[in-house]
Amino acid sequence: MQSAQLFTKTASGALRCDACQWYCELESDVTGRCLVRRGADNHIALLNHGLISAASISPIEDHRLWHFFPESRALAIGGWGYAFPADQQRGAYAHIPDDPTSQRRIDADRIANVALEQLCRGVIWAYGEPAVSHEYVLDVMQLSRAASRYTALVTTGYMTAEALDRFGPYLDGINLDLRGFSDSSYSRLAIAPHWRGILEIATYAHSHWHCHIEVTTRVHNGVNDDANELLEMVEWIRDTLGEQTPWHVLPGDAGAATASSVIRARRVGYENGLQFVYGPDVRQDTRCPVCQTILIRREQGFPVLAGLDGNRCQSCGKPVNMRISIFHQK
Ligand code: SF4
Repeated sequence: MQSAQLFTKTASGALRCDACQWYCELESDVTGRCLVRRGADNHIALLNHGLISAASISPIEDHRLWHFFPESRALAIGGWGYAFPADQQRGAYAHIPDDPTSQRRIDADRIANVALEQLCRGVIWAYGEPAVSHEYVLDVMQLSRAASRYTALVTTGYMTAEALDRFGPYLDGINLDLRGFSDSSYSRLAIAPHWRGILEIATYAHSHWHCHIEVTTRVHNGVNDDANELLEMVEWIRDTLGEQTPWHVLPGDAGAATASSVIRARRVGYENGLQFVYGPDVRQDTRCPVCQTILIRREQGFPVLAGLDGNRCQSCGKPVNMRISIFHQK
């Protein structure tokens, strides 16, 4: 079984896992909060290494990256395990199947090769939390980049700065699943009260590693839709990641009350300076924030470049936040 690369030996002799912000100390036979890393004699065993939970080939926009290599197809894969207890209770990828014949194992180089063979422009880790599959994700990213594929993660942002520093040279894009902007929201939606570290990681990914970041928030009526909380979130996105950061506001649960919360949240975004705020409808066009020219048309639910010249508006020349190259822009 593979061993973790990212850990620290503490003064007491325990091994501290440094992959995510729980920083679990793992004595022998103790499993971390993610349920996929276990302390062993002088190492941490990776129970999920090399196992995929899901795989698909689809437009990158399916993963709510709408300003990122538009029109491209990506190989989306994922592994087992989550960092948040709430996801372990509700998520589809929390528990590795007990039956070995139900476990799908694939080497990282095979993933990069499949992306090439299937003419996918990039590879995205989209299922399960990438932080808890750190070593496997890193292998996939390095080999995908070696094959000139772009790489992206859908993540809660609960990885550590040490983990991000290892991903950074190979990482192009992040869809950040930002669940709220208060202790209360994170306690209810993640069961993770110490959530502000997520903001630090996103800031670091943006400012130091120049990752393209889009933010997704699922709004739950009466949970994370307080007007002040939404305003604080929007101000943080605008002031830290930039006013052109795409913000995807989706309903966290069904019902008219949540639908109106989504509308309200989007209005808070627009009224407070975010230039690209998207709701659940996949047919929303992307328009130039200055002259309103359609840059990306999505009439049929898939993107068609309409008014872009590189990452500028073809009509008025306004630069728009559009990642179109694997060479990081500063
Ligand atoms: S990945 Fe996170 S939850 Fe899992 S053992 Fe490491 S620190 Fe703990």
